[in-house]
Amino acid sequence: MLSQKFNVSQGEKITVRNKRLQVPDRPLIPVIMGDGIGPDVMGAMRLVLDAAVQKIPGGTKALVWLEVFAGESAFAKYKEWLPQDTLQAIRDCIVAIKGPLTTPVGGGIRSLNVALRQELDLYACVRPVRYFEGVPAPVKRPQDLDLIIFRENTEDVYAGLEWQAGTAEADKAINFLQKELGAAIRPGSGIGIKPISEFGSKRLVKKALEYAIQNHKPSVTLVHKGNIMKYTEGAFKEWGYQAAREYFPEQTVTETEVAEKYNGQPPAGKVIIKDRIADSMFQQALLRPQEYSVLATPNLNGDYLSDACAAQVGGLGLAPGANIGDFTAVFEATHGTAPKYAGKNMANPGSVILSGVMLLDYLGWTAAGQAVTRALAKTIQQKTVTYDLERQMQGATKVGTREFAEAIIKNL
Ligand code: NAP
Repeated sequence: MLSQKFNVSQGEKITVRNKRLQVPDRPLIPVIMGDGIGPDVMGAMRLVLDAAVQKIPGGTKALVWLEVFAGESAFAKYKEWLPQDTLQAIRDCIVAIKGPLTTPVGGGIRSLNVALRQELDLYACVRPVRYFEGVPAPVKRPQDLDLIIFRENTEDVYAGLEWQAGTAEADKAINFLQKELGAAIRPGSGIGIKPISEFGSKRLVKKALEYAIQNHKPSVTLVHKGNIMKYTEGAFKEWGYQAAREYFPEQTVTETEVAEKYNGQPPAGKVIIKDRIADSMFQQALLRPQEYSVLATPNLNGDYLSDACAAQVGGLGLAPGANIGDFTAVFEATHGTAPKYAGKNMANPGSVILSGVMLLDYLGWTAAGQAVTRALAKTIQQKTVTYDLERQMQGATKVGTREFAEAIIKNL
């Protein structure tokens, strides 16, 4: 149940029926404004999304923002970094959006973002990366890269299973591995564990496949380092292919089948399943980006690859993201709190506005999302931009966070 602290009178909760989201005309959307520049960029995002939704024909739809707290604002109010009420509100309302959060130093919380993902089992980190014309980029043809990365969010070396060198726990793990499994480990090493499961891999790849099929994407590429880590990364690849065979046998075909059975010509309407070794994928993203569309990766590869691809098209300021579970989804800015710009109306709200577009898509309000993307692209082409882009563009007009949002609204 939603806590009594929240004013829920104006909206209705999104629900799930027959494995589908049921979105009312006025869905309640929990919003964490975040720390540092969070309130600046989130305020701008809300203005833009509200304006876009208002223009949906019929005039009955609206997003009903429900402010919930995490990070510094939660600590100031409730002496807790991630209150249970906040988690429960997101569970109840299913779809939420958040600004960046300060990572508390000490106090037993590794990262609020990791805690949120774990508590809500948001197992897919989804990061679309595309180029916006006019944005300075380090490569010659940044427009050739247009990808969406599905990164597994709960396993791998990020599972938090690690012990510091010299501790009793690390020594115990080393002893066990040596005595029971004959593993030679240098004494005094730090130890980390890399779990990758069939369950975790298949549910992540299934999400990537569903996205590719629903959005008529040409391929899904499984990115792995299975040539070296055979039973974790290699297994991810095998389970990925199995997921395609088990869940979508009619809609998918492997790259090998295309070569051997179809004379190199992919059958129309089918999603091609490829796999690439992670280091090769980094080269391919630079050299042959047009050949890739949807990527599915384990946690660590996906982390590196998302930021490298975002940098290739002009940096993180415009990179949106979401953490998604079976239904629950939390959309977020991918940058941090940039504390030196907090409250100065300077930060670029592009990342969280585009995360808002992902949220609109998730609700099925796709036309409103497309309108926002077009208006944001136009605003950048008009060279009306925040300081971070202005300093790299010739002849651009520097505007504040709020004014950038207003310029987008004018272009809607
Ligand atoms: P950061 O906050 O992303 O800031 C690093 C630099 O990136 C800023 O100084 C600024 O560069 C630029 N930048 C980031 N966001 C921008 C925006 N919206 N508009 C314009 N420029 C932007 O990274 P950090 O300094 O490493 O981290 C600060 C805090 O944020 C830490 O507590 C960290 O743990 C947290 N964090 C949270 C999240 C999250 O909640 N998802 C993610 C990452 C980090 P210039 O100074 O060059 O202009």
